[in-house]
Amino acid sequence: MSHNPIRPWRNIERRKSRQIMVGRVPVGGDAPISVQTMTNTDTSDVKATLAQVLRAADAGADIVRVSTPDEASTRALREICRESPVPIVADIHFHYKRAIEAAEAGAACLRINPGNIGDAARVREVVKAAKDHGCSIRIGVNAGSLEKHLLEKYGEPCPDAMVESGLDHIKLLQDNDFHEFKISCKASDVFLSAAAYQQLAAVTDAPIHLGITEAGGLTSGTVKSAIGLGSLLWFGIGDTIRVSLSADPVEEVKVGFEILKSLGLRTRGVQIISCPSCARQGFDVIKTVEALEKRLEHVKTPMSLSIIGCVVNGPGEALMTDIGFTGGGAGRGMVYLAGKQAHVMGNDRMIDHIVELVEKRAAEIEATDAQAAE
Ligand code: SF4
Repeated sequence: MSHNPIRPWRNIERRKSRQIMVGRVPVGGDAPISVQTMTNTDTSDVKATLAQVLRAADAGADIVRVSTPDEASTRALREICRESPVPIVADIHFHYKRAIEAAEAGAACLRINPGNIGDAARVREVVKAAKDHGCSIRIGVNAGSLEKHLLEKYGEPCPDAMVESGLDHIKLLQDNDFHEFKISCKASDVFLSAAAYQQLAAVTDAPIHLGITEAGGLTSGTVKSAIGLGSLLWFGIGDTIRVSLSADPVEEVKVGFEILKSLGLRTRGVQIISCPSCARQGFDVIKTVEALEKRLEHVKTPMSLSIIGCVVNGPGEALMTDIGFTGGGAGRGMVYLAGKQAHVMGNDRMIDHIVELVEKRAAEIEATDAQAAE
């Protein structure tokens, strides 16, 4: 994946991990890096939770996690799992019975740390439920909730402590002959998280779930996640990602995809290349890009579109995109198709025209793909 013989500086060599299944979604090995989010509704409110799952799935989420803190939520999980178009991960802390109920209710994966649920018999029961119902498990190490003995040993949350915690949880699963697990080691600090993930990646072949936890609001959390997740992904680490934002889960999915798109690891929808604009702009670049982002949200076919204010950078960017528009003078600009000048278009009609061109091109690409598949 992401092997580019013409532009070798864009190559990313992914770490070799085992592949597991989260429902029908493969995670690890050569599977595409999946994008996850988490609902923030009351899980026992099936209607509200399912509505959020559907919106997230529509935005591109491959996997959605829901919290299951009580019996009412594990009861609701049955219908949520049945109706969801994407696999559901049940998020469990401490209570092993919720894990068993979630597995029985159809969860594709349990997010649970086996070391936190009590004695060996309980771990055995949870593993048995996971095996019986085809669930995978995500071990979720978090710098904010490290085991007391590790904090005493290391003095504070640090990469060594996080990796040791992860390996302890892994051993509990392996001792029960359970190998369908992935692992995360999140921290809100980018340096700590990245160092822990690097160390973890060197000592296990389990698929890795990447995330910077409690990253912040939409802007700050996006930047933090892009730095943390982006640097790890660039060096080949990470099989599935979740961007944690204090924002709508749909935003988490969008940001996750943008990170993967920026690194050429996955493509989805229209990637817009646009300039920041300045006094040279031949049309209002910012308003145009805002409008196009909204109008093109429904397009899932990967393609690129350059929206550039003037000829300083417009023709160059258009060369590398499927469709391009470069501002000119007198209220008009140049439309480019596949890097070549196609025709002149008035700024007043440009947005509608570009939407039409993108939709047409998407239909062509889909038809070619369908033909190739046949
Ligand atoms: S491409 Fe043109 S309009 Fe856009 S920022 Fe550069 S000089 Fe300004």
